[in-house]
Amino acid sequence: MASSSSKHLETLLQHVGTADFDPDTGSAPVALPSMRTSTVRFRDLSALEDAQRRKGRGERAVTYGRMGMDTHIALEDAFKRLEGGEQAYLASSGLSAITLTFMAFLSAGDHALVSDNVYGPVRLLDQEVLRRMGMEITYFSPNREEIDGLVRPNTKLLYVESPGSLLFEMLDIPALARQAQRHKLVLAVDNTWGSGYIYQPLKLGAQVSVVAGTKYVGGHSDLMLGAVVTNDADIGMRLNKTQYAMGYSISADDAWLALRGVRTLPVRMAQHARHAMQVCTWLQARPEVARIYHPAWPSDAGHALWQRDCTGSNGMLAVALNLAPAQARRFVDALQLFGIGFSWGGYESLVQLVDAGTLKAHRYWDQDNTALVRLHIGLEAPEDIIADLAQALDAAKIEATGV
Ligand SMILES: *Cc1c(COP(=O)(O)O)cnc(C)c1O
Repeated sequence: MASSSSKHLETLLQHVGTADFDPDTGSAPVALPSMRTSTVRFRDLSALEDAQRRKGRGERAVTYGRMGMDTHIALEDAFKRLEGGEQAYLASSGLSAITLTFMAFLSAGDHALVSDNVYGPVRLLDQEVLRRMGMEITYFSPNREEIDGLVRPNTKLLYVESPGSLLFEMLDIPALARQAQRHKLVLAVDNTWGSGYIYQPLKLGAQVSVVAGTKYVGGHSDLMLGAVVTNDADIGMRLNKTQYAMGYSISADDAWLALRGVRTLPVRMAQHARHAMQVCTWLQARPEVARIYHPAWPSDAGHALWQRDCTGSNGMLAVALNLAPAQARRFVDALQLFGIGFSWGGYESLVQLVDAGTLKAHRYWDQDNTALVRLHIGLEAPEDIIADLAQALDAAKIEATGV
């Protein structure tokens, strides 16, 4: 497949995973088609045996449809480029990429340290599945606790998310990587926020990067996708075997859609980031705003780490509002442009009223008595986004005072 050796990610993302020229016609489509297949056929038995041998060595050799063919390979290449990794393994959702990671590195009797700012459903995975299988998790706050006091003889995995879910708490990945190395732990980072384009945990010392491609990689709110990327051969082998044994698989059409999304990731991400900063600037001047959570925003507690470790930002922010619970509900209901819903990373603005109970588990949260609203700032005109927020804040308060 054609590719580029540029050091610029924007260039690499336009040239990764393109179709080979047809040897007879000398032509090729610009965009790789979706190669749908449930199985593959071989020219002869020795070709099949050769593929099996290469697969046994951990190479990407296809013997059956579950791993997919050209479209899947192209998307894996895109994730490798994004994350600066050597191997990428696809899963049918971001959460299944997370379960692949836990299944690959934990066995019965093992223990993992997990950051308390982690994507909520990880706790469900812990409660519903991992415990039942004899694995134990300790949640900790990486910016407040040293892992030295928490590591046990059976600790195998250090699993964190940076910036964290809901509040975008920046973690010091290089420092965590040093501690993980000292205790011989695998450091895995949920990098959905950065999606490889603006943040690369593998380059900061992590061995595994987990991405929900559902978000910015897909970018159009029309597919579910996950990927696990590594630059460590042994870890890659473990992920490869676990992925295959557990039957993780995605459709060629979803791989194709994600590849289509990847091409415009650079322009989308930059635009989301610009709009989010404009919204932050406007929010700061509003009396209802108690605190803004957005690492690119200069007063964010993680801003220095963001400057050191990230190459850009995105459209995610959270804002603590001095609104009573009923007012916060009215604010959200009054929004016109923002869809009320989970997820983010698509083209559109979304709002989530974060449950106060959920926040108690995040030690970064220190704004009790406020309402936390998470916003995904979409690609709409920022003036319209801001006007919508303004009218909704006014509506929340006018009704509250009965005017
Ligand atoms: C959405 C999300 C996931 C899960 O991705 P799905 O594709 O929805 O399963 C994992 N981690 C983070 C940080 C997310 O935001």
